[in-house]
Amino acid sequence: MKLKDLLDRNVSEFGEYPFIYYEEKQYSNVETKRFADQIANGLHKLGVEPGDRVAVCMPNCPEVIFSYQGITRSGAVIVPIMFTLHQKEIHFIIKNCKAKVIITSSYTAENMKKALEGLDNKPVLLVADIPSGNGMTNLYDMMSSDPGNLKSVPDSSEEDTAVILYTSGTTGNPKGVLLTHKNLYSNAVNSAAHNETERGATIGVLPLAHVYGLTISNVSYITGSSVVVFSKFDPVKVFKAIEKYQVKAFSAVPAMIHAMLASEHAEHYDTSSLEWVGSGSAPLPIALLNGFQQKFKAKVLEGYGLSEAAPVVTAHNKKIAVKPGSVGIPIPGTKIKIVNSHREEVPAGEVGELIVSGDHVTPGYYQNEEETRRILVNGWLHTGDMGRVDEDGYLYIVDRKKDLIIRGGFNVYPRDIEELLNGHEQVFEAAVVGIPDERMGEEIVACVVKKAGASVTEDKLIQYCQDYLAKNKTPKMIIFAESLPRNGVGKILKTRLRESIAGSIS
Ligand code: ATP
Repeated sequence: MKLKDLLDRNVSEFGEYPFIYYEEKQYSNVETKRFADQIANGLHKLGVEPGDRVAVCMPNCPEVIFSYQGITRSGAVIVPIMFTLHQKEIHFIIKNCKAKVIITSSYTAENMKKALEGLDNKPVLLVADIPSGNGMTNLYDMMSSDPGNLKSVPDSSEEDTAVILYTSGTTGNPKGVLLTHKNLYSNAVNSAAHNETERGATIGVLPLAHVYGLTISNVSYITGSSVVVFSKFDPVKVFKAIEKYQVKAFSAVPAMIHAMLASEHAEHYDTSSLEWVGSGSAPLPIALLNGFQQKFKAKVLEGYGLSEAAPVVTAHNKKIAVKPGSVGIPIPGTKIKIVNSHREEVPAGEVGELIVSGDHVTPGYYQNEEETRRILVNGWLHTGDMGRVDEDGYLYIVDRKKDLIIRGGFNVYPRDIEELLNGHEQVFEAAVVGIPDERMGEEIVACVVKKAGASVTEDKLIQYCQDYLAKNKTPKMIIFAESLPRNGVGKILKTRLRESIAGSIS
């Protein structure tokens, strides 16, 4: 199966139906296919050959979906780029993958032009929502110039690269994760099967440039669902869409679930159709899970994944009990193990590194053999995440190996402290990091965003931590902030936080 087969099958299996709702517009699956074929033909005219890289960098909109299908139908490789990236990061990605064409929008076009400065071979710039000119061609102009049937391209193999997805690069330059057709297809099929995802309308609020959003949109082809696409997360718009389209389920990240719970507008909308919300990409605080489930009478099904696994590895589903703090059980086709530093499997309950195998695991990083060898050992993907599995086979992510704090020689997992602080009635959210300390090696610092009107002090929060945590896990310092630095999927950027804390106290 190839990525393009997802759309072809969707059309032949479900007939024509509204596939995308966006602002006041809607597009059927048949129109989507037609636009995609036109884009594929247009790309061929621009000289794009099978295997060439075509980047897409814009906030969520229907054209992202048309472009992804168009690129894959042309035989080229999709390079999604998060529109929130800095121009230097975009420059690195375009140079690294040698993109021939970039599809962008008015929102990102100027940033993109700056990002391309200094490149020897400038890619062709297509823009989705502004007229041609100024060095750019409007995507629809390019499409209408070639409305014919899809020019045939040599049939690709399932093992060919379909997508190169650059990780956020929290530990250096972004790495291009190679994802084959098989990786993406199998993950979408198995994710849908795991949860018996039903046909219906769903909310497309996860960035399509992120692997989580990409795969969830692939699930919609398989289940014959419609997607209400949003370019930006706004809880009120999500409530409205749930009411209007009788949405039963959608996937989100903790920051979105948090914003929905905190919103005062929920009660103005009928959200009773909602049965479950998937949560992934970052730890879901237990207090948030409980609060959301209570308020919306809908389950929160936490899962875990990473770009290198296309992405879903484990998840809760409708059939199993929700265990707060756990990320569920492996989806079909996935094997997991917890191993020690000698790569030996450890017994249930013990913490070690999580390793993963299955059809969805990447063959490696683009032109980066050293990193590929580091993460892929004997067919197992070393995730860099520390976890444990309980006696029922549920996985718990303890923390990222690189976020572990070693204080006075003892391992401290920031997540334990974050869970406690997030449960405090005056805390909106908290993130805990280790900063260098002469005496202890590392010291624990918590960065806390207070709830509106909260009066809690540093001393009180430290006392609260002392009441519930072992002494060596108590933060030495609490720093209050207006907000926490996040990436495009709302993940807290711990590296940036560490740097700014170190800067502010030095
Ligand atoms: P980089 O690897 O460059 O830092 P990234 O973190 O953005 O980039 P992704 O593939 O987007 O890369 O994220 C995968 C990581 O997200 C996992 O390795 C894990 O640390 C974290 N993660 C995903 N889901 C969960 C979850 N439910 N609970 C805790 N952590 C999670």
